[in-house]
Amino acid sequence: LVLRRGRSGETLHELAREADAGTIYWNRLYEPAIAARDAALRRGLEQEGLEVREFDAQYLFAPGSVLGKSGDPYRVFTPFWRRCEAELDALPAPLPAPRRLQPPAAQPAALALDELELLPEIRWDAGLAEAWTPGEAAAFERLDRFLDEGLAAYGEARDRPGVDGTSRLSPRLHFGEVSPRQVLQALRPERNGSRAFLRELGWREFAGHLLHHFPDTPDQPLDARFARLRWREDGAELRAWQRGETGFPIVDAGMRQLWRTGWMHNRVRMIVASLLTKNLFQHWREGARWFWDTLVDADLANNTLGWQWVAGCGADAAPYFRIFNPVLQSRKFDPEGDYLRRWLPELAALPDRHIHAPWEAPADVLDKAGVRLGRDYPEPVVDLRVSRTRALERYEALKDRGGG
Ligand code: FAD
Repeated sequence: LVLRRGRSGETLHELAREADAGTIYWNRLYEPAIAARDAALRRGLEQEGLEVREFDAQYLFAPGSVLGKSGDPYRVFTPFWRRCEAELDALPAPLPAPRRLQPPAAQPAALALDELELLPEIRWDAGLAEAWTPGEAAAFERLDRFLDEGLAAYGEARDRPGVDGTSRLSPRLHFGEVSPRQVLQALRPERNGSRAFLRELGWREFAGHLLHHFPDTPDQPLDARFARLRWREDGAELRAWQRGETGFPIVDAGMRQLWRTGWMHNRVRMIVASLLTKNLFQHWREGARWFWDTLVDADLANNTLGWQWVAGCGADAAPYFRIFNPVLQSRKFDPEGDYLRRWLPELAALPDRHIHAPWEAPADVLDKAGVRLGRDYPEPVVDLRVSRTRALERYEALKDRGGG
């Protein structure tokens, strides 16, 4: 591995010359800005007389290659995935790594990793290092363990944030430590849980496909009617959400898990996103930006799809009138409060019945658990019922004015 610092085109060209290489190989990436960069890179390298060979590894199906009968891109997940599923068996198996690579006659000079000075001065990243071991070996270890211990129960466990019931492969897939084709191969022969798990990889495919066809969606709603929504701006509320101080335990637990480990459970991502966009009525872009800065699996396609889905303005989105109630969601998916207690130790002594909504707990229960609302743990930042009605009215008004 040769580390260099500089402009990609010049650096690659220099390196090819030093290593006496004639061909450069890479895997194609599909985020619009990166795809444009790589196309320019390729032209430049070819003009210099180098050969470039590109391969598809980011997705099972190259974005752009799955179209409906009319030749238009799919905007609804189920038919998109049905179409893909029918072709899964025809996908070629991934090739093994080459057994031997011909090294260059002289090893090109390289920077040491430390010289890139990638680590922050204030070590806010300590929790990330605890939670993740980057690299291909750790990725495959995780995949194997998930297949042995998690896959069979995945269908039910995947919605329980207090349980280690999902693969946590998202950053691995994003950075290419493991490819979706390798995952697909590991899921064969089909067994309990394979289909449910593959379907989630299907959402990843769908997200990549949508971003390719609709490259403006990281900023613009796919459903144009929503561009007219007037979102609220409130810095204090946004900060409370970012810091996990909203007073809604399931939201705060999620936001703290995110800050500490760089990852948040999918069910909780939906709940925190719903609180921000529906109850606080803040722009989904604010939420997407925060996720972008804090997630280890930050992925332009998946993040855009997730936020627009929750806000109700994307492809195949949750209908605008679906507003997650964080208390009911918490009771349903973390009934014993395991997840809440892990991330909110200040509430740990509250009984299961009250931990999901401490502001509704009787004073003696709070006392006994050592919780003083407003001091040890915040009061709710917003009234759920009032804010729900307000959101519904604003969304309804859009509908009345038609368009689309
Ligand atoms: P598993 O349940 O084990 O799923 C396996 C794989 O399928 C995941 O690794 C992921 O690659 C893919 N996948 C699962 N669910 C989704 C989904 N809903 N959309 C797209 N792909 C999916 N995922 C990201 O990878 N990066 C993001 O930036 C991101 N932002 C999100 C923002 C919001 C508001 C929401 C609601 C979801 C977001 N997701 C994002 C999707 C999902 O939450 C994560 O992929 C998942 O939680 C990762 O955990 P896992 O690997 O254990 O998932």
